[in-house]
Amino acid sequence: MKASRGRLFQRRSRLTGELLPTWWLAYRVDGAERRESTHTTDRDVAQKLLTKRLDQANEDQLPDPTVERLTVGALLDRLLDHYETKEHRSLATVRSQTKALREVLGRVLAREVTTARLVRLVKTWRAERTGPATCNRRVQLLRAAYRRAKVDPKRIDFGEVLSPEAPPRRALLDVAAFEAIHAQLPAHVRDYFAVAFLTGVRKAQLAKTTWPHYDPTTATFTWTAAEVKSKHPHVLPLDGRAREIIDALYATRRLHCRHVFHGRHCAPGRQASKALGCIGDIKKAWTKACGTSGYAAAVFHDTRRAAVTHLANAGVPAHEIMGISGHRTRSMLDRYSIGTEEQKRRALRRGTEYLEAERAKATATVQPIKAK
Ligand SMILES: [Zn+2]
Repeated sequence: MKASRGRLFQRRSRLTGELLPTWWLAYRVDGAERRESTHTTDRDVAQKLLTKRLDQANEDQLPDPTVERLTVGALLDRLLDHYETKEHRSLATVRSQTKALREVLGRVLAREVTTARLVRLVKTWRAERTGPATCNRRVQLLRAAYRRAKVDPKRIDFGEVLSPEAPPRRALLDVAAFEAIHAQLPAHVRDYFAVAFLTGVRKAQLAKTTWPHYDPTTATFTWTAAEVKSKHPHVLPLDGRAREIIDALYATRRLHCRHVFHGRHCAPGRQASKALGCIGDIKKAWTKACGTSGYAAAVFHDTRRAAVTHLANAGVPAHEIMGISGHRTRSMLDRYSIGTEEQKRRALRRGTEYLEAERAKATATVQPIKAK
């Protein structure tokens, strides 16, 4: 590779036409010009970087510009460059927020960052008393950096990392709400709604469930990783009311349709919806039922939160609930679980019961001694 002498330049603002303070460098390698921000307003520092690049070019040691080698720091640089040229008002805040990301992830390859790592990072921020809104802002900036650099964050589910900023506005889909909506739903939607409410399995996953997913001898559903939003296999052994419903559906299963839940128009030769199975989109029936039952604000996804909450209130430990609902992380589960007052009261009642049992034991052993 042969590099030309290169040059330093400043960009012009798109809005005012004035020169921006940051120095950029440019040089030609094999006839093609390469440009790069030096991220400094100091011309001498910029000149040093340019000299370094030219040396690297002459020794065939230029940094690999391919995506595979990009670090999180490089991604954040690109994002800041963008903010700078766009003269974003929030540039100063963005710069300070990305600093928190850079401290920990700056040298990490962008492709190697995982959801778990980001969740841990947010936890440390929270422990340092950083508010949830600020944590989210940082995570959103990181997501923006990936988008801008066109790097696929393959191992990151940003939704899992973002924390709830405000308490959920929607009221819990409690038993009364469930009964009222259930009664108003058309017959073909009721079992689908009931199973979602009892198990918390996601809407689309449940809609696409077919009998090959089910083992009737053990009453167990098994979904492959590809069929679950979190991309992890989901095994759900049934019992209680959910098992009764599925058993009844199994007994009356249709020869022409593999799906567990059927739409109004299920018939031989009819093609099921690719995204929502035979039952299809129930939005219209749902909205109507919620409206007439007085729960107009309810959305079908509330079934997931309802299932988690009633299982928690029934005293089911968190890790067991995760197995049922298919939640992958404790933080996600906590986001979904509301109505924790009852759980806390139950815990206190248990504590009291335990202490009373201990006291009873103590008096039972102490009394005979006293009696001597
Ligand atoms: Zn069907």
